[in-house]
Amino acid sequence: MATLLWMACGSCNGESMAILGTGAISPDNPTLPDFLERNNVRLLGHPSFSAEPSHGLANTIERVLAGEQELTLLCVEGSIINGPHGTGLFDTYEGKPKRDVIRGLCARADFVFAMGTCAAFGGIPAAPPNPTESTGLQFCNDRPGGLLSPEWRSRAGFPVINLAGCPVDSATMLNTLTRALHGVPLELDGFNRPSTVTPCLSDNTQRKCGTAEKVGYACYGCISPKFPVSKPLFRPTISHRFDSPATLPGPHSTNRQVPLRIA
Ligand code: SF4
Repeated sequence: MATLLWMACGSCNGESMAILGTGAISPDNPTLPDFLERNNVRLLGHPSFSAEPSHGLANTIERVLAGEQELTLLCVEGSIINGPHGTGLFDTYEGKPKRDVIRGLCARADFVFAMGTCAAFGGIPAAPPNPTESTGLQFCNDRPGGLLSPEWRSRAGFPVINLAGCPVDSATMLNTLTRALHGVPLELDGFNRPSTVTPCLSDNTQRKCGTAEKVGYACYGCISPKFPVSKPLFRPTISHRFDSPATLPGPHSTNRQVPLRIA
């Protein structure tokens, strides 16, 4: 029987919420429980879905790491956190840096999926100044190499399969998991994104993002390895506006050059 383990790292849980169906539940929007039942997959653990107490999950992880429990599908959500100062202690599991636990689990899994742009490329947490020293599983932004080296391969011979999106939608996640499980080719691009990853609101006739036309605001490019640093909000800028010491004019001051303005 195939197994699935879901681990959350530096995450806002957007992918967990999507895959558990907190959006609209419909035949077009399958959920994780649907997938498990249809494909006869046993869930080893999910931070928001498992009924098992936390010590039970810790035992399961120990058994996977020891090679006593098979792991078919490892899903990682959120960025890999290396801070502070490279220790990884900002994000721990059972007292250990979680990134070390994830590295060990990756070595035991047939397939590893980065669920969302944070897990794939570092995403929002890895944007400058990156105080948590975040990275993706096998990329850091658009540079190959993250927690794992560019040459790393899973037990089934694949790099980390990057389901980019912020968040990636549940249909993309479950469609890709199903394909991997049944041996359907995944056709990865140069950033190891399978062909199932498309811009949101694209459709069969147009593979480009349809957000602007269909919703009315601009696409923010969340499947790109450069997201979010490609967007002005996250670009580091240095303001020279208040470089000179500013003094407030007193009642009798002749200083009338104070650039005190709220932007
Ligand atoms: S990719 Fe987006 S939705 Fe997913 S964990 Fe990161 S910030 Fe949240």
